[in-house]
Amino acid sequence: MMENIFGKNLPELTEVVQAMGLPKFRGKQLAEWLYKKSAADFHSMNNLPKGLREKLAESYTIERAVPSAQLHSADGKTSKFLLSFADGAGVETVLMRQPYGNSICVSSQVGCSMGCCFCASTLHGMVRSLTAGEMLAQTMYINDLLAEEGQKVDTVVIMGSGEPLLNYENVLKYIRMLHEDYCLGMSYRSITLSTSGIVPNIYRLAQEELPVTLSISLHAPEDALRSELMPVNMKYPLAEVVKAGREYGELTHRRVTYEYILIDGVNDNLRQAKELTALLRGQLASVNLIPINPVAERNWQRPAPERISFFARYLTDHHITATVRREMGNDIQAACGQLRNKHLESR
Ligand code: SAH
Repeated sequence: MMENIFGKNLPELTEVVQAMGLPKFRGKQLAEWLYKKSAADFHSMNNLPKGLREKLAESYTIERAVPSAQLHSADGKTSKFLLSFADGAGVETVLMRQPYGNSICVSSQVGCSMGCCFCASTLHGMVRSLTAGEMLAQTMYINDLLAEEGQKVDTVVIMGSGEPLLNYENVLKYIRMLHEDYCLGMSYRSITLSTSGIVPNIYRLAQEELPVTLSISLHAPEDALRSELMPVNMKYPLAEVVKAGREYGELTHRRVTYEYILIDGVNDNLRQAKELTALLRGQLASVNLIPINPVAERNWQRPAPERISFFARYLTDHHITATVRREMGNDIQAACGQLRNKHLESR
């Protein structure tokens, strides 16, 4: 049985070459070929001894992501890719060319089990978690595209389909690899992880001492509504989620971002703005207001622009940092899971 080598980190690659009777430094060279030079096969790895290249090719494959669909926004700034893996599973990865650099949105699972009622990723349930290699493959696919223009991936948000804190080990391995010199050498500060609020794993992440930015999907300022929108709230209610966010901020000295989708007539009134303010008061936090991307399968709408700015102004007037997310790629349905759903339904 051939084994996929893509996604193995330096210690694992070192073990592979040592098991083949070669010195440790060959592991580092192999890592650089895979993750820095994006080698597609072992034969091109021309600073490795020919015997090693042959042995590697006998036992291992290099499995990267294969694009099966793509969409580009009219302004050319947002591109969305449906990327497939060896078993045929596909996930969405989005490239956003922002004024501050190239940001990518990476998926952590195929589908999602959280059941949030506004989200397209969860409609077809969860298929499986992704490996670190598959998350890295999404990243490298886009990094290679950008390299053709002399650019690179500058920031990563783990905010695509899936719940990253329910795929903890793989996501952490991926984050650590992004940071390694033999890979993209990214600073942890340019990596954001978004969670629906898996409380025990927020604490666990805080203990890792990695200064990654934590983003928590809140979407409602009180339990009844949040449970309706996000079933996970029945397990981990608001007060516990916000407490975990507070402690994450205190331990890591990183500002926690709370995502708050604005849905017309559902969570955008004055009372809710007040409750949200009270909930977050005194916390090193900011609120990212996201006018909902209407999902074909559900009947939610965006509030009118005046209502959005009213909500944002209420928060800032009450000393809660708030921004309204810049709309990107609306014309290509950048909302989670919509390209994949189309693809699934057309089959
Ligand atoms: N499971 C994680 C990460 C994936 S969802 C989480 O819940 O955070 C990434 C973000 O996109 C979340 O804030 C999610 O609530 C939001 N989102 C999902 N569907 C959306 C929609 N239709 N419009 C706007 N944002 C949406």
